[in-house]
Amino acid sequence: MQPTSGGDPFDGEPEQQALFGWADTAPAAPPEGDGAFRNSATARRMLDIREVYGEPAALASPRGQQILARLPEVPVTEVAGHWRIPSLHGNAGSVARWTRIKRETLVLGVRQSLTTRPNGRSADFIAPGASNGCAMACAYCYVPRRKGYANPITLFTNIEAIIAHIQRHVRAQGTKPEPNQCDRDAWVYDVGENGDCSVDALICDNTADLIAAFRALPTAKASFATKFVNPDLLELDPGGRTRVRFSLMPQDDSRLLDIRTSPVARRIAAAADFLDAGYEVHFNLSPVVLRPGWQRDWAELLTHLDDVVPDRVKEQAAAEVILLTHNEQLHEVNLGWHPRAEDVLWQPAAQETKRSQNGAINVRYELQVKQRAIGRLRELIASHAPWLRIRYAF
Ligand code: SF4
Repeated sequence: MQPTSGGDPFDGEPEQQALFGWADTAPAAPPEGDGAFRNSATARRMLDIREVYGEPAALASPRGQQILARLPEVPVTEVAGHWRIPSLHGNAGSVARWTRIKRETLVLGVRQSLTTRPNGRSADFIAPGASNGCAMACAYCYVPRRKGYANPITLFTNIEAIIAHIQRHVRAQGTKPEPNQCDRDAWVYDVGENGDCSVDALICDNTADLIAAFRALPTAKASFATKFVNPDLLELDPGGRTRVRFSLMPQDDSRLLDIRTSPVARRIAAAADFLDAGYEVHFNLSPVVLRPGWQRDWAELLTHLDDVVPDRVKEQAAAEVILLTHNEQLHEVNLGWHPRAEDVLWQPAAQETKRSQNGAINVRYELQVKQRAIGRLRELIASHAPWLRIRYAF
């Protein structure tokens, strides 16, 4: 049996049970229904939609209709805009309410802004995402900073427009003139900046449509980070044009911080299956949280990765290393529901503040602390997983 990590309610983690008193902590059950994982009891523990809020145009769209057809008898409330729904968004209430909203509520909207931004780190470009919000609840997550923690998945139903925009952008780039750390040949587009495409795939075909679109784009690649293992994605045909980046962190950190995610060991164990299904498989070593024992635990994680991952995965794998950034407002919110997370996330003696463009006060490790930590992590990778090419460390 694989060791467990992560705050995964699917695995009956006693620590998470004690912390939140969730009832949804039964062991994983085998798939049921039509055989798709999304119909399984396991999937329903992540998402069990009981109410839908939607913009009229989103509800009437083909994608909206497809989603609603899978949710018969679920009440639907029309809203003028998906962006701010007072009864859903915000930081008030307990985490039990947040996670219930994330599990039981779905918002359908129409994405208005279709712009692709240059990136250069994780990907060459950040594509307009097909969702915003997440059913998971990592304590360090930046996604809810604008809507607040009770930020369920908003699916954008104008997926054809999103894909048409990406296709135009890809074609306008032409062939990649020279390799860079993002990729040797292809322009890489991050398609999941503000959510998790693997979870979105439990309730709609947006992720499948994106994967299919990139299969037909020989000069580009889709890329998304994920903390959730969705076996339904193995049934798709990415044709090597989608990069899945499984996010990894030591078990103790994940148990404390990665709320509602798949255990880290499960993400590692899934790597070969995803490669065999035609994905490129990379790893995000992130966020790296500096706390007593972090070097020992990262060494242990890298050793486990080296033991478990087969050579065919190692030969094509690469990693991003991202040290934790935090946020003062998020810190205040977390103190209210999960102060133990703040014991490791909030380290003023080692962190410095920076005001972001939107006025929020962000916190990151002080430069020298960060540089030393990155250097040490590089050494650990060289010792325990020397095959793992570091695409960038930040
Ligand atoms: S899985 Fe990603 S998007 Fe979802 S809560 Fe965690 S960090 Fe945020």
